[in-house]
Amino acid sequence: MEQPVTSQYHEANVSDTLSNAPDADAIRELDRMRPPDEARAIIDRTIRKLPPETVRLDEAAWRVLAADLVAPEDHPPFAASTMDGYAVFADDSSPWREVIGEQNAGHVIDAEVTDGYTVRIMTGAPVPRGANAVVPVEATELAEDHVVIHQEDVQPGANIRPIGSDVRKGDLVLPAGTILGPAEIGLAANLGVNPVTVSRRPRVSVLSTGDELVEPGEPLGPGQIRDSNRFSLRAALQAEGCEITYAGQAPDKRDELEAFLRKRMAVDDVVITSGGVSMGDLDLVKAILFDAPDINVHFRRLYLKPGKPLNFATCGNALIFGLPGNPVSSLVTFEVFIRPTLRQMMGASDIDRPRPPVILEHDVQASDRIEYQRGMVSVDGEGRLVARNSGRQQSSRLASFVGTNALLVIPPRETPYAAGETVRAMMLAAPFAG
Ligand code: AMP
Ligand code: MG
Repeated sequence: MEQPVTSQYHEANVSDTLSNAPDADAIRELDRMRPPDEARAIIDRTIRKLPPETVRLDEAAWRVLAADLVAPEDHPPFAASTMDGYAVFADDSSPWREVIGEQNAGHVIDAEVTDGYTVRIMTGAPVPRGANAVVPVEATELAEDHVVIHQEDVQPGANIRPIGSDVRKGDLVLPAGTILGPAEIGLAANLGVNPVTVSRRPRVSVLSTGDELVEPGEPLGPGQIRDSNRFSLRAALQAEGCEITYAGQAPDKRDELEAFLRKRMAVDDVVITSGGVSMGDLDLVKAILFDAPDINVHFRRLYLKPGKPLNFATCGNALIFGLPGNPVSSLVTFEVFIRPTLRQMMGASDIDRPRPPVILEHDVQASDRIEYQRGMVSVDGEGRLVARNSGRQQSSRLASFVGTNALLVIPPRETPYAAGETVRAMMLAAPFAG
């Protein structure tokens, strides 16, 4: 049996039931329905950047650079040939040249190119003293110890990559906030920068609440459902490079749940709960967050569909997101609020998913809240982005997410949106080919 929830909070009609309480105004303000942008601004004000740490390049993939990376040296570090051929002095008009050496990549021979002489040179090898151009081997003809050049007009600098032509010593190569992908990591290695300074990974826990929940793999009893949120949220956190410190079911007794939450808030940067924030008497998370004097609830009602009862609170340095239990609601609110929060904590310059305008391919019902509909955005024959939703949009219907690449942002309106109208799409992946 669940314990009754003792909370000052009573949903029925907050403004009526609490109109005489001293903090009625504060509660009314807390329960004011907020547009998602306003909620986002509230969250943003609470975000602190995570401290930097150094990691070896082999461990740095998808981490966020925490300090500007300035080139400590020129690249390339010497003038190099970009072709296999012959290193020459461009103004030399000798009919043929004597080959005085062979310059391979990886070392430097002691040879000087002057009029009438040349050095055989390989791609990536340093250009010998005196030479200022490389003639590709295809434009030459070798006879015994000399070479004839069949190229009329050899330009100074031809086929030579000068010192620092890719990157100059002192150049700002990668600004702080860059997410380190393959090219960025390669460039750091190129310039001899290892380890790199990145922000610490956010420490995040995921707690599923609700005593109807059963572990996948366990048999379902009457009225029970499987815990899916914990797994989908964990996957979403992994994609953002978080350190998941705990992911599991939380105790469903109030005291134990509160103690458990406090343990997490003491060590994690972000605590995510799912379930228990709606209007029910057994919505423990909402009650615990509200009643604890040291936990500051910033908002808990949004003009958002799905995701209306999202609770956002802070306690010390920890941010607490009380997500609604419906699987689609929890993933949508993760996308809209938590992902950008994590990215800002890591100091990433790329925070938000792109939201290009898209043309609706069919009529879409509007709601009285901003609605995020799971959808498919593709490029049509004329190169325009067009969008369809994934059918029924109930927030319990996780299947409505499968095969989609966007959340279509449908602003509130009394009349439906007609095919051909333009809305924004929050792109979760690249558009499909038309
Ligand atoms: P709640 O937000 O607790 O009112 O839950 C809303 C709906 O989401 C209910 O149908 C719950 O059974 C369901 N639900 C809650 N938690 C989870 C979970 N971790 N995985 C899947 N469904 C859940
Ligand atoms: Mg519940």
